Amino acid sequence: MYLEILGSAAGGGFPQWNCNCRNCRLLRGGTLRGKPRLQTQVALSPDRNSWFLLNASPDLRLQIERTPCLYPQSGGRHSPINGVLVTGADIDQIAGLLSLRELHRLSLYSTPSIRRILEQDNTVFGMLKRIPHQLSWHEITPGEHFPLLDPSGTNSGIGCTVFSLASRYPAYVLPQRASSLKPDEAQLGVLVESPSGGKLAYLPAVRDISPPLVERLSLVDLVLFDGTFWSDDELIQIQGSGASAGEMGHIPVSGANGSLCKLAALRCPRKVFIHVNNTNPMLDESSPQYREVREAGWEVAEDGNQFEL
Ligand SMILES: [Zn+2]
Repeated sequence: MYLEILGSAAGGGFPQWNCNCRNCRLLRGGTLRGKPRLQTQVALSPDRNSWFLLNASPDLRLQIERTPCLYPQSGGRHSPINGVLVTGADIDQIAGLLSLRELHRLSLYSTPSIRRILEQDNTVFGMLKRIPHQLSWHEITPGEHFPLLDPSGTNSGIGCTVFSLASRYPAYVLPQRASSLKPDEAQLGVLVESPSGGKLAYLPAVRDISPPLVERLSLVDLVLFDGTFWSDDELIQIQGSGASAGEMGHIPVSGANGSLCKLAALRCPRKVFIHVNNTNPMLDESSPQYREVREAGWEVAEDGNQFEL
């Protein structure tokens, strides 16, 4: 299985349009030892011909144009993108679906709760269902194992198992709606098994690290893990107010309760932080934080990274 990281930043990207933090300021000025990043987007393929997306970022149109294997390959209208698995309903996980609307047939995998948010509350996504069979919607629930199918039902050979990571729905979901949805369908982690048996864990939004989660991660070859914030009060320090990392559903990288510490004993060939917020000091490759991450055996995802599993 081939895996391409088309974007590795958290919502807003790096730099973020209205952010003047140290990272964004130095990056714009050309003096940061670090790279710009689009919003998090991962693409998977068993053969480099047929592709499936993990979530659909607001930068998706640009990410497709930067990735020749995602260009149309034949006929007047074509795309090798056959499906999308959405792990949550955050704007940076679903907005890109609207860039896939031009009557292209797609398989879409989501929990029933996220389907209700997209289908019943946000009718703009009806543009994905203008003609019969444009969208093949597969409802998935935590604990379920399922294959990724193209819109005609052909099995890609890629298998997925999803599990619940958090119970919080995005702020745009009205409280009345959120209370009617199943908490364990809000935010998913995905275990992906390639046709050759290679295993990936994709967890872009992790609130807590439990012993069962560590056990799951110890069985995979590559983990793409929530690297949103370095510290719990990172945004508060910059904005002067606001939510902590924990309140936003992200365990910080540093600290006694952070992911570096809690996953220190994890035996996994490749451990990569993804979904990195523009304020995170580990984006500066000359920083002690970046050094700490690298010395702990972790990588910081960059746009364009490729893996084979
Ligand atoms: Zn910034």
